[in-house]
Amino acid sequence: MSESRYTVLVVEDDPAVRNLVSTALESRGYRHATAATGKAAIATAATTSPDIMLLDLGLPDIDGVEVIKRIRTWSTMPIIVLSARAEDADKIEALDAGADDYLSKPFSVGELLARLRTTERHLGYMADDSAPQQSVFTNGGLSIDYAAGTVSLDGTELHLTPMEYRLLCLLAHNIDRVLTHQFILHEVWGTSQDGDLASLRVFMGTLRKKIEANPSRPRYIQTHVGVGYRMVRVDR
Ligand code: CA
Repeated sequence: MSESRYTVLVVEDDPAVRNLVSTALESRGYRHATAATGKAAIATAATTSPDIMLLDLGLPDIDGVEVIKRIRTWSTMPIIVLSARAEDADKIEALDAGADDYLSKPFSVGELLARLRTTERHLGYMADDSAPQQSVFTNGGLSIDYAAGTVSLDGTELHLTPMEYRLLCLLAHNIDRVLTHQFILHEVWGTSQDGDLASLRVFMGTLRKKIEANPSRPRYIQTHVGVGYRMVRVDR
C-alpha cells in the first residue's frame, strides 16, 4: 500500500476508538498524530499543521465545537467530526461552526476510509483555487455557467427559479461538504428560522425534479436526514 500524502490528526479521548482509527490509518499508509484532549488537539494542529482532522466532540476539557471554532480562526483544514448518535444537535452545531463532514459512532473502518477519500478529493479542489477562477462548474452531466447564470443537464438548458439557482450554486460551491439546514437557510434566505425548513424541502424537491433523472433516488444531492444536504461528485 503506497503512503498517502496527507497527514491526519486524530482527536479522541476514548483509547479504544483512538487505537481503532490509528490502526486503520496505518494500514492505509496515512501519517497521523493523536491527541486525547481539546487543548492537545489545538496545540498539535498549530505545531504540526496536519492536512485533515478527525475530531471527537465529547472531549474531557474543551468541547469539540469550541475546538472547531478556535481552529477556524487560523486554519481551513478539513475537519471530520466523530459523534455518537445521541449528539445529533452537537453534530449540527459542529457543521455550522465549520466542520466539513461527520461520522456517527459506531462507524466501520470502511466508512472512515470512504470519508477520508471524499475529504482528500475536496482538498484536491481547494488546491486548485490558485488557478484562475472557473466560470463554469461541471459535475457529471450537470453544468453551471456562473457568468451567464445558466444551468444545463446533459447539454440541455434547465429553467431554474432564482431560489433554485441560488440553492444549487451554494451546494456546488461546497461540493463534497455536508451543509446543515440552518446554514443553507442562512445563506439562501438570510434567515435561520426553523419554520423555513418546510420551504427549503419544497425548493429542494422542485430542484431535484429538474436535475435528477430519478428524484426519489438522487445522484447529485444527498439528503442527510435531520442534518442537511450534500452535493456529491458524480462520474459521467
Ligand atoms: Ca469522547
